[in-house]
Amino acid sequence: MTVEPLNTDDVIRAVAHAASHRIPLRTISTGHGATSGEGGVLIRTHRLSGVHIDPDRQIADIGPGATWGQVGAAAARHGLAPLSGTAATVGAAGYTVGGGISPLSRRYGYAADHVLDLDLVTPDGRQRTLDAESDPELFWAARGAASSLGVVTRLRFRLFPITKVRAGALTLDVDDWADVVGRYLDWTAGISDTTSSFLSLKNFPDSPDLPEAVRGKRTATIYVTSLDSTEALATSLEPLRRLPLAADNVTDIAAADLATVFNEPTWPHAFQGDAIAAMGVSASTLSGPLSHLSDDVAVPTFLFVHHLGGGMSAAPDPANAIGNRAARYMVRIVTSPTPTTDPVATAAEHDRTLRSLSIEPTGRVSNFLFGDNVPTAPLADCYDPADLPRLASLVTRVDLDNILRPARGPISTGRDHRRWPGRSEERRRK
Ligand SMILES: Cc1cc2nc3c(=O)[nH]c(=O)nc-3n(C[C@H](O)[C@H](O)[C@H](O)COP(=O)(O)OP(=O)(O)OC[C@H]3O[C@@H](n4cnc5c(N)ncnc54)[C@H](O)[C@@H]3O)c2cc1C
Repeated sequence: MTVEPLNTDDVIRAVAHAASHRIPLRTISTGHGATSGEGGVLIRTHRLSGVHIDPDRQIADIGPGATWGQVGAAAARHGLAPLSGTAATVGAAGYTVGGGISPLSRRYGYAADHVLDLDLVTPDGRQRTLDAESDPELFWAARGAASSLGVVTRLRFRLFPITKVRAGALTLDVDDWADVVGRYLDWTAGISDTTSSFLSLKNFPDSPDLPEAVRGKRTATIYVTSLDSTEALATSLEPLRRLPLAADNVTDIAAADLATVFNEPTWPHAFQGDAIAAMGVSASTLSGPLSHLSDDVAVPTFLFVHHLGGGMSAAPDPANAIGNRAARYMVRIVTSPTPTTDPVATAAEHDRTLRSLSIEPTGRVSNFLFGDNVPTAPLADCYDPADLPRLASLVTRVDLDNILRPARGPISTGRDHRRWPGRSEERRRK
């Protein structure tokens, strides 16, 4: 049964229906993270897309169906900007409660760090307004794990007085991906928190289903977003601009248009992906998977290296459930599957590729676990091990009958969070 609520009461009724019949309950907004269903109740929040901006207090108050495009446009009318991501079509609520890594996050932290309060309908049928005072424990958990606790029906978060940023893509004319990775990692080591970036390595099969422009090609692109002055950014980009470039469109851009820089699909898209956070990455550890990615591939496969750290390393006050604070990089793999792609085999392949990186991960990153990969990429990997019992007990408290089906699977403490062996451990076992 699919429900498209027009107000919070509709959500409460739908949740109560699922709870009383003890049937699975799923929530989606844009459907970007849609996974295979299993009956039960599906709440689609896209009609609850209200956005109210308080320009004096620099706060957005949004419904769960609002997209970043809608929030960004409303905020821009008051000279403000949210910590939105790389795609305007992504749902602001789903993104934020999963953490939310913005191109401005190295300066300001995770989007979830700036949530002031939220309304959550829990499977026990209660609508709760959570903030630092009313229910600090659930408020801690909801900022990072709300999808495991209920349906968010309203969200209030800080905006920032930003009207312009400097952003764009450096498209590299280089075939040696290992060299590109090395140069990118060297460059990030000296970069201030006012600049965020990621490296995108894409491999497209030689398939007639793909546009001529990308068919059979490999691309390497560095995306940069900065709050520095034009001159300061030009100075810090010098080492990258010495690389052979096919295109360089880094320029001043309205903050509300930032997402246009990243070439993301403008419609909900089937993705399957896994993401690990790490303290460090070296080009040599990446070279194995890169050569594998450059083999003939059946479906488009992308590898991304994101520069984390900066504002994301500092826990907010009050603290929240987001893990991996110490991580300096995120490495993620994404496949754009066809209808015949086997999701189980793809998940296993992603797992194999990421393990072959020989990186010691601090954990996984929930917003970037796309598709049916729950067996290989458990949600528990996204949180600090010490927080798992606390999270699991809150989930049990509000979802006694285990009806919630968040996109990234259940938070389970039954798994060994440290089960991803580093190289040294693997060697010891042999
Ligand atoms: C093109 C693209 C670009 C992206 N860029 C970024 C980025 O820059 N930074 C980043 O951090 N992430 C990014 N993401 C990941 C994105 O934040 C997550 O996929 C997020 O979950 C998408 O939310 P949605 O509502 O759009 O998707 P949906 O498929 O509608 O929802 C995904 C899941 O979120 C949960 N959810 C959604 N709404 C609610 C609700 N009201 N209450 C409780 N749970 C809910 C549910 O578990 C749901 O299954 C990107 C994703 C895509 C597809």
